[in-house]
Amino acid sequence: MDLLNSRPHGPACPETLQDPETASAVLRPFGQPAAERPSPQRMAKIRGLRTTLMDIITAPDSAAAAPGWARLAERASPVTLRQDFSEPGKVRLRQVGGDPVLGGITLAVAELVSDGTWPRIRICANERCDHAFYDTTRSRTQRWHAYDTCGNKSNVAAYRARKKARPGG
Ligand SMILES: [Zn+2]
Repeated sequence: MDLLNSRPHGPACPETLQDPETASAVLRPFGQPAAERPSPQRMAKIRGLRTTLMDIITAPDSAAAAPGWARLAERASPVTLRQDFSEPGKVRLRQVGGDPVLGGITLAVAELVSDGTWPRIRICANERCDHAFYDTTRSRTQRWHAYDTCGNKSNVAAYRARKKARPGG
């Protein structure tokens, strides 16, 4: 989620994949070594990947998302994986080639897709916020990343609009 929210959005969230220092923190969960700063090439690659992921998430339906998935497959194509059966009863995919951070991200996406939780990644309905969040509701209908900051404002706006529409209200 931090990766998706590293894109510039809303009034208070600047690009964080431009500066090696902030990018390092964002990419660490995906295999960026703590002692190393990500190279400009890696940051550019991951920004491109992030754009593709956002295209998929913001697509209105699966048909519209299809080109995004194709682009994601293309971006992930330098990553080489090997099946590892060393742990009894388990199979793990281990990366043996390509940028390890790119591989770490695409493996994380693959995991969300295979366990069916990918559609839970949503974008806040508050247009001025646009924060990405993980929908934890059973009904998968969460609209705002934080109800207090974004939900209330939307409610107020909707209430005002209704009041305006009603003559004498
Ligand atoms: Zn929000």
